[in-house]
Amino acid sequence: MLEKMEILHVEKVIEEFETMTKDAENVQRETLKKILEENGSAEYLQNLGLNGRTDPQSFKACVPVVTHQDLEPYIQRIVDGASSLVLTGKPITTISLSSGTSQGRPKFVPFNDELMETTLQIFRTSYAFRNREFPVTNGKALQFIYSSKQSRTKGGLFAGTATTNVFRNSQFKKAMKVMQSQCCSPDEVIFGPDFRQSLYCHLLCGLIFREEIQLVSSTFAHSIVHAFRTLEQVWEELCVDIREGILTSGITFPSVRSAMAKLLKPNPELADLIHRKISGLSNWYGLIPELFPNVKYIYGIMTGSMEHYLKKLRHYAGDVPLISADYGSSEGWIGANINPNVPTESTTYAVLPNIGYFEFIPLKENVEEQVHDRGDANILSMEPKPVSLTEVKIGEEYEVIVTSFAGLYRYRLGDVVKVMGFHNSTPELKFICRRNLMLTVNIDKNTEKDLQQAVEEAAKLIAEEKQEVIDFSSHVDMWTDPGHYVIFWEISGEVSDEVLKECCNCLDRSFVDAGYVSSRKVNAIGPLELRVLRRGTFQKVLDHYVGLGAAVSQFKTPRCVGPTNYKVLQILCDNVAKTYFSTAF
Ligand code: AMP
Repeated sequence: MLEKMEILHVEKVIEEFETMTKDAENVQRETLKKILEENGSAEYLQNLGLNGRTDPQSFKACVPVVTHQDLEPYIQRIVDGASSLVLTGKPITTISLSSGTSQGRPKFVPFNDELMETTLQIFRTSYAFRNREFPVTNGKALQFIYSSKQSRTKGGLFAGTATTNVFRNSQFKKAMKVMQSQCCSPDEVIFGPDFRQSLYCHLLCGLIFREEIQLVSSTFAHSIVHAFRTLEQVWEELCVDIREGILTSGITFPSVRSAMAKLLKPNPELADLIHRKISGLSNWYGLIPELFPNVKYIYGIMTGSMEHYLKKLRHYAGDVPLISADYGSSEGWIGANINPNVPTESTTYAVLPNIGYFEFIPLKENVEEQVHDRGDANILSMEPKPVSLTEVKIGEEYEVIVTSFAGLYRYRLGDVVKVMGFHNSTPELKFICRRNLMLTVNIDKNTEKDLQQAVEEAAKLIAEEKQEVIDFSSHVDMWTDPGHYVIFWEISGEVSDEVLKECCNCLDRSFVDAGYVSSRKVNAIGPLELRVLRRGTFQKVLDHYVGLGAAVSQFKTPRCVGPTNYKVLQILCDNVAKTYFSTAF
């Protein structure tokens, strides 16, 4: 009886979601009212002349659309311990470091209890829909989750990545329990100071509890693939630990060692079984169900820049379904995946109209062209007005603007989404790409998505040789005249020069944007350059971000490295093994 009471009432969650989404416009209006009432005393809002008005029209007339850069002075004051209420009605005590992979340095954003509550609401909503299709029983989850370094700011606030702030919150554990998705690893592993050691222990815990594991998850799919690539390297060591019941000496942190000692008992049968199972695999295909026979699905964000890892993840997953997790950011959540059955690449996110106030800037090709290469502020002044949540149109692309319960008002998230349909009256969004990630030399424009498609196309050539692109990035080299695109690849093994030359040509041909093709034809853009990196280079990039305070849980490989991101550019350039120039044009 007690057990039953602790389980989330999924039908109730779905019912609430249905009611709310049938009335999305009103719920949005009410949500804005609530945000403005709760935070009306904040200096930022006080100065904008709202004078207590909370309706969308007044809000849009008084409050400017901003970028993170615009808010930085306000956020910095909070970080430094401002005594007044700067952005919110209640003091901010915690700061999130967003991954900021593209800019090369983490950004600060406020975190508060309201944001935590909306996080849990998103988790509950998608879980409810997911559980209808793929019910989990009271087992464990192998979660590759990690904490970032937690620090105190100058003003005494806690600072960590958003995922760390969530994992550390006592509500998180409770929520995972009622969703029957509790992490199989002890807290000391999740919050261990060294992510490599934590990863090793996560794997070990997963194997110890292999029969009980119901799902394998991480925030972003990259971490799952990274984990199983690591398992390929360390599985024999893991088997030795299980056989002897003694943790490898490579795990050095006393807190992690003592937590693991409680779980690890000599178990030669289990070690033999795992050894046999892994030895029986062909090229690691189906590794996950082989090791975890009761796993129901694999869960993590799989769209956008994570799509690259899907091929490898499918290989490890065999016939276990892959389900993309929800859509959000350190700044706040946006939508939940309520159609877990659709193929991962087609995942959409239904916006929850009560977790923030949402607006959308329509992205029309002609406007983009006019404003090409200008600063953010200019882009906005020439762009169409943002539309509200219920005004978006199916088939159109938009940039998302968020107003949150944590002190961000009309904040440009920088993500491009496409409206694929409506669930009741709330839109279902497909994540397209980051807006500011753009390869451009002159009149050409290639987005993160275009880059990914080009890489996918060229990678087919090395797939014929049983090799894969482990990870990739890009850069625009303007030091040459004319400038040209540089694509960085890390490949799993040896590939002949001949094939790589062909890959380079294929990449060049795969950017089909008219501006690119015409510029290439007249040599206004130079031949595309493919730089093949030494194995382990992207691990160094990851280490670099972790060193800056990022968490592996939130890591996204920067798909385009800007000229000011010196450190990452240097890591990439210092590790080039081979270089090819396209002869496609
Ligand atoms: P962070 O800065 O670490 O908070 O990451 C937030 C960013 O990750 C978002 O602005 C998106 O660009 C990306 N992201 C988050 N959720 C998804 C998703 N479901 N699909 C694709 N990209 C996502």
